[in-house]
Amino acid sequence: MNAPFDLRHLNSVAGLATLGEAFVQRVPTEPLSNPQWLAWNTALGLQLGISDGPNDEWLARLSGVASITPWCSVYSGHQFGAWAGQLGDGRAHTLGVLQGGGASWEMQLKGSGKTPYSRMGDGRAVLRSSVREYLCSEAMAGLGIPTTRALAVTGSAQPVRRETVETAAIVTRLAPSFIRFGHFEHFAHHDQHDALQQLTHYVIATFYPECAAAPVPALALLETVSQRTAFLMAQWQAVGFCHGVMNSDNMSILGLTLDYGPFGFMDAFNSNHICNHTDSQGRYAYGQQPRVGQWNCGALASALLPLINDMQATRAVLEGYSAHFDAAFVQLFRAKLGLSLTYESDVELIAQLMQLLDNSGADFTVFFRSLSLFEVGNPTGDDLLRDQVLNRAAFDAWAVLYRARLKLERRDDAARALAMNRVNPKYVLRNYLAELAIRDAQCGDTHLLETLKQVLDSPFDEHPEHEAWAGLPPNWANQLSVSCSS
Ligand code: AMP
Ligand code: MG
Repeated sequence: MNAPFDLRHLNSVAGLATLGEAFVQRVPTEPLSNPQWLAWNTALGLQLGISDGPNDEWLARLSGVASITPWCSVYSGHQFGAWAGQLGDGRAHTLGVLQGGGASWEMQLKGSGKTPYSRMGDGRAVLRSSVREYLCSEAMAGLGIPTTRALAVTGSAQPVRRETVETAAIVTRLAPSFIRFGHFEHFAHHDQHDALQQLTHYVIATFYPECAAAPVPALALLETVSQRTAFLMAQWQAVGFCHGVMNSDNMSILGLTLDYGPFGFMDAFNSNHICNHTDSQGRYAYGQQPRVGQWNCGALASALLPLINDMQATRAVLEGYSAHFDAAFVQLFRAKLGLSLTYESDVELIAQLMQLLDNSGADFTVFFRSLSLFEVGNPTGDDLLRDQVLNRAAFDAWAVLYRARLKLERRDDAARALAMNRVNPKYVLRNYLAELAIRDAQCGDTHLLETLKQVLDSPFDEHPEHEAWAGLPPNWANQLSVSCSS
């Protein structure tokens, strides 16, 4: 057990801030006026050993009243496939590092005012996007998917102009590091090879010490990060999560899901599903995510090339991404189908199911959850699944193969169902659920936000009192649209 943490133990000379002025600037926050709590993550607070939250001092700190000047970092990146130049923490301030739950966590405010990297932005975040980030960070953690975490949301009546006038909020997020691919791209682009070397050394020494002993540490780093990224993409695909804005500045060097904006969990299965209204070309559509993950690893590779100095080896690492992704994807989908043994034909069985589900009308989450009801010895029991798929004959043809494959397993229906229900979530953060919580919170009622967060903390469990949240979305959910504006 760690010693209990309180705010006085936040170390403000840590993380990236130890690397110096080329990396971070000390920038004061702009506190919210008359702040209020919108959310405090009790479970995470306990896990981190925070002993004194959520008191008035925390409210002040997490709404931007700083006791020490926080830091902002500079990065660049590719947005929608094009070089975007310098970006950076335009509305985020890192308060410092806390030790909790056996790890180090950078604590960062998002929406805490202008910085030297705000460009045309106002440095603010609205309640809507802050609540979405809070809920989805924790929903992903509940699903066991690597992610930045969210400790709290504070809000204020202070107006913020987006498409309409909304109100300001700040989400407090935590991660071992918020370093992005874009940090590396920044220093490479400006030919600052000493800084690039320093950053790479810091990341390896702190997070990937095993790479330090490799013949070319920067190459080993690229290999490890692309492997983690491939695994993260497979995990997203396995729950129907679409990030929405997979620019290289939103890619974590630790393989975490980072920067929640216009994300969405798919309702009806569609490999071309686009969750971000702004993404008119569908660059970041569901089915594109694995490929874009690889593309972003390519951007990281270009940035690291001055340190690797070996084009052929770099290319080989990038090509290896596909094998890592395929292996992770099959491993995760085998589990989703309740297959504990490994047969080569599983790859085809999974591919056929994905093809069958595409544009089938079936809801991604409901379908996989109900797949655990499949009975090996009772084809007449398939109706519940077949009825979710428009093409019933195609479902029956697939069910013959699936049934034959299940007969090779050593587990009975009940044992298989139990295992499947540990990997096929019953609850995901559907857009409409986030929307309901946001509407209440905008009116000062955070009860639904709190309850939804608790359900999403254990998305594989039954929550009989919230059965409706596990069902199909209501019709009005079709009208919801999310965009980059946040
Ligand atoms: P995002 O699309 O949220 O990943 O942001 C891309 C870049 O724009 C980052 O450098 C952000 O810090 C910056 N940015 C986004 N919104 C704002 C804002 N309201 N004020 C200042 N900077 C912003
Ligand atoms: Mg971003």
